[in-house]
Amino acid sequence: MATAVARLALIGPPGAETAEVAYRLAGRLGVPSISMVDAVQSAVRTGSALGDELRRFMNAEQAPPIDLVVAIVRRRLGEPDAVDGFVFWTESPVLAVLRALETSGFHVVELVLADAEAARRLTGRRLCRGCGRVWHVESAPTQVDGVCDRCGSGLVHREDDRPPAVARQLGVHHLHSAPVLARYRFAGSLISVDAARPAEEITTELAGRLARS
Ligand SMILES: [Zn+2]
Repeated sequence: MATAVARLALIGPPGAETAEVAYRLAGRLGVPSISMVDAVQSAVRTGSALGDELRRFMNAEQAPPIDLVVAIVRRRLGEPDAVDGFVFWTESPVLAVLRALETSGFHVVELVLADAEAARRLTGRRLCRGCGRVWHVESAPTQVDGVCDRCGSGLVHREDDRPPAVARQLGVHHLHSAPVLARYRFAGSLISVDAARPAEEITTELAGRLARS
């Protein structure tokens, strides 16, 4: 795409395929897709001073100070591959991080998915114990209930995909994202897109709306 700089923060709940949309959109825009987790892992992996500091908190099982998280994300998004922009994505946005990224051409994009639909997608997942493939009782069922089509191993309904865990994940997402989304919605700079569709369709709509914005 011929736009100058595309700096995006993509925020979506668990089950909304946020990573997939970020990846596809970044590909179309010719910029990297970078998650909050990627930024933190790269700081730790590269042995930077910020990574060392973060490791001290992780080893002590303490939450790192917000300034440290902001510095780590800024550093990652300031690397050469992100000079023409980035698609930064997260399920649990931190307002301080986004505020630090606010520059001209910065967009906050919300993937909108009803909790019931997110829960349907997440609680229907079944993981193969053998090959690790993820099936879904409705959208990607196996021929024989509970048996992997690919390798014949048994499927497991992971604890993380059971209703109580899913409800917790969605609760955490709303807790983090509500104040962030409210801020950008109030400022008139929030782009909301219906995420109850295939990732490619969402990507196409977003790319079109960004080109016009
Ligand atoms: Zn399998």
